Formats: sequence, structure tokens, C-alpha cells
Amino acid sequence: MSTKFDKGASIAVIGAGIVGVASAFDLARRGYEVTVFDPAPPGQGGPSWRNAGQIGASDLQPLSTPGIALTGLRMMLQKDSPLRIPGLEKLRLLPWFWRFMATSRGDNYRHACAAMTTLASQAFEDMSQMLSAAGCAGKMRRSGAGFIYDRAQSFAASQPAWAMKAEAGFPSSPMNREVIAARLPDMDARFSHGMLSENWGDVSDPLEIVRDLAGALQKCGGTFRHSKVTRLTPLANGIFVETEAGREIFDGTVVAAGVASRQFAKAFGENLPLAAERGYNLTFPDPGFRLELPLVMPDRGIAITQLGEGLRIGGWAEYAANPNRPENRSCYEAMSRISSEIFPGLNQSGAISWMGNRPSLPDSIPVISRSLNSNRVFYNCGHGHYGLSNSATSARILGSLIAGEEQPPANRAFTLRRFN
Ligand SMILES: Cc1cc2nc3c(=O)[nH]c(=O)nc-3n(C[C@H](O)[C@H](O)[C@H](O)COP(=O)(O)OP(=O)(O)OC[C@H]3O[C@@H](n4cnc5c(N)ncnc54)[C@H](O)[C@@H]3O)c2cc1C
Repeated sequence: MSTKFDKGASIAVIGAGIVGVASAFDLARRGYEVTVFDPAPPGQGGPSWRNAGQIGASDLQPLSTPGIALTGLRMMLQKDSPLRIPGLEKLRLLPWFWRFMATSRGDNYRHACAAMTTLASQAFEDMSQMLSAAGCAGKMRRSGAGFIYDRAQSFAASQPAWAMKAEAGFPSSPMNREVIAARLPDMDARFSHGMLSENWGDVSDPLEIVRDLAGALQKCGGTFRHSKVTRLTPLANGIFVETEAGREIFDGTVVAAGVASRQFAKAFGENLPLAAERGYNLTFPDPGFRLELPLVMPDRGIAITQLGEGLRIGGWAEYAANPNRPENRSCYEAMSRISSEIFPGLNQSGAISWMGNRPSLPDSIPVISRSLNSNRVFYNCGHGHYGLSNSATSARILGSLIAGEEQPPANRAFTLRRFN
């Protein structure tokens, strides 16, 4: 079979999270006949629903940075630890963490930084184009973000990373106590060290974005099937997509099923080491003030955003091999206490609690790739902390792969081959 799909070819997309819907929209605009499968309504089957809604486009380092072993241990010992690996999950995830640790060293680390830079440098332009095509460009702001540190010491330790970003063309400026008080008057007065990163922004609401894209996709002729895909079977002239409702034949398929993507890869004999990196947050519908700027608090591992649904505060990383592991309710109590520490006047009534499974790969780089074992299967998954931010860029890269366009060498970083 040829390695490119002609216009009019039928493509099944598995997963209607932000990544699947963005990919489907890109493919429909290229002239493919697209069908999206998901048992959940668009955006509501995974973390695309109530994530922090930030467009983070200046993080140029993988989570596993040099010295991560010590940093991770220190984090796990601190009160309200932003990093948790419960009980037996430590054993189950040993191979994953082995690979994670390897990312922090030598060429692995340099390659991961280069891939993160490739995505970050295109995120805003691709997002603007995708949202304009969907008629909702006004729902994204390139406001910049305040990175607010708890300690002068961690602020000082972060400076080499900020210098590296500035050198790569991602500018920032320091925020002292006065600047923080002026721009973030509802924050506790204890915060006196921050950086304003320009390549950052937010959307009005992450679920609204998925819904708008889904609507725009339908206008381009795309369709949705509310069913779970149980099996993919490649044939000589197509691929069978099986669901509980029956099976249909397509020319090609895109696996964008978040953490569940790894099962599909396994069935094709491919290693796609996805872990569920669970994040917890609270949304306060009526906080009593309006936050002007999206915030990241690196010492606490949380992000704070003013969204249509309210003020959202949360984050953290709780690793699990099993994405269906029950949520840890004590995280919400801790998050509520932290929220009032940061904003002493916060009205917490009516808070909505939520947990989502980030689909995370050990090198923090998504897989945007053709399958190694079937020409008809493609993957777009493993976006970890930046699935919303990189949805448009990864959709464009995937669309260009499917259309058989020549790829810039930098896109090789996203291949599935690196795990196989
Ligand atoms: C607390 C938190 C805050 C975050 N904040 C941000 C942020 O500010 N900015 C950012 O860019 N990212 C953020 N993220 C990360 C972001 O949410 C994810 O990277 C992104 O949502 C992943 O999207 P996805 O479409 O790949 O996966 P998902 O949203 O998980 O979608 C996958 C879909 O596949 C479906 N599916 C699974 N199996 C099957 C099957 N067999 N058949 C059919 N369908 C199937 C599921 O139902 C689901 O709808 C955050 C995540 C968390 C948890």
C-alpha cells in the first residue's frame, strides 16, 4: 500500500479528547472523510474536560531534568507533596521510571529539550489558526503567565532555566513584590518572587474549546459515533474498526485515546509506555475576585486559571499504572487549604472537585507517528502536561504525515520508534 492517503480517504479517529478532535478537524479540513469514536461526549472522557486551560508554550524541559532523583525525593517528603506514587504503583511503574530517569541525562535530555522547543515555538500560531478555522479564536488569550515562587531560594535556582528560555527566544521578566501586588492584588502578601513568561496564555474553558472544534468538524462533514472501539484489524484494503455495535471498514485510523492508547499499541506488538499521571483540582464558581493572569506555582506543582466555570486551582502528579484507580479524596482537602493560603479572601462555596489522567510518556514528548507495524495506523497521544497547548501543532504534524508530506527532521523526535 502507498504510504500516503489521498483526499477523500476514510479515517477513523479513536478518542474525542482535545487531541483526537483537533486531529479529526485537521484531517477533515484536508479533505478526508473523518469519523470519531468515543463512548463519552467530546472532551468529557478524560483530562481534556477540566484541565487548567493554560496554553503553556515556554516550557522547554522534560519533567525529568538533571538531578531529578534528588528533587523528586525531596518533593515526596514535603508536606502537601506535588508528587505521589502510591503503594504498589511504584513496583508496577518501575520500567516507566527507569526510562523517565534516563531522560534526565546526556543526549536523551538534549533531545527531549529540542522536541519540547519544537512544539512550544509553534503552539500559539497553530492554535490561533485552528481556533480561527473553528470560529472561536476569541476564546484564547496570549496573556503571558506569572510563575510565582514560594521561596527566594527556588526563584534563584530557576534562573538558569529562564536564561536558557530567553536565549531560545522565549522572553520573560522578573516580578517583585510590588509587581505581584499590583497585578495579583488578591494573592497573599507573602509572595515576592516571580517571573512573567510571555509565551503563555489561556482559553476561556477547555471543554468549550473541544465542543467548538467538534461542532466545526461536523460542519466540515465529520461524524461522531458514541461507542468504544474494542479492536482494530488491518486488512489488505483497509482496517476494521470494531465496537460493541459492530464493525466498519476505514482506509486508516488514528489512535488518540489518551492513556488507553497503549492497549491499541500493545495489540500491534508495539511498546507505547503511557502512565496515568493524575492531577487534582478545584473550581470555585464564585471566588469573589477575578484573576487577571494565569499562574503557575512551581514549588507547589499547581496552576491557577480564571475560566468560564470559575477560578480553577490544582495540578500535582500522582502516578498510576491503572487509570481506574479510585481518586484520593484527601488531595481535595489539601488543595482547598492551599487555595486559601494563596488567596486569603477566596470564597470556596460550591467548589467542584475533579481528577484527570494525564497521558504521560517517560520523556515528556508525545508520540505523533505512524505505527511501525501497520501502514494504516497512526498515533497521536502521550501529551502529558501540554495536551491542550500542543493539540493544534500535533494535529497539523499528524495531518501532514497522513497526507504523505515531507517532514522536517525535527519531527523525527515524535516517532514511536524511540520506544521500540
Ligand atoms: C489537572 C490537570 C491540569 C492540566 N492542565 C493543562 C493545561 O493547562 N494545559 C494543557 O495543555 N494541558 C493540561 N493538562 C493536560 C491535558 O489535559 C491532557 O494532555 C489532554 O487533555 C490529553 O488529551 P487527549 O485527547 O490525548 O486525551 P483524553 O482527554 O484522555 O481523551 C482520550 C479520549 O479517548 C477516549 N477513549 C479511550 N479509550 C477508547 C476506546 N477504546 N474507544 C473509543 N474512545 C476511547 C476517552 O473516552 C477519551 O475521551 C492538564 C491535565 C490535568 C490532569
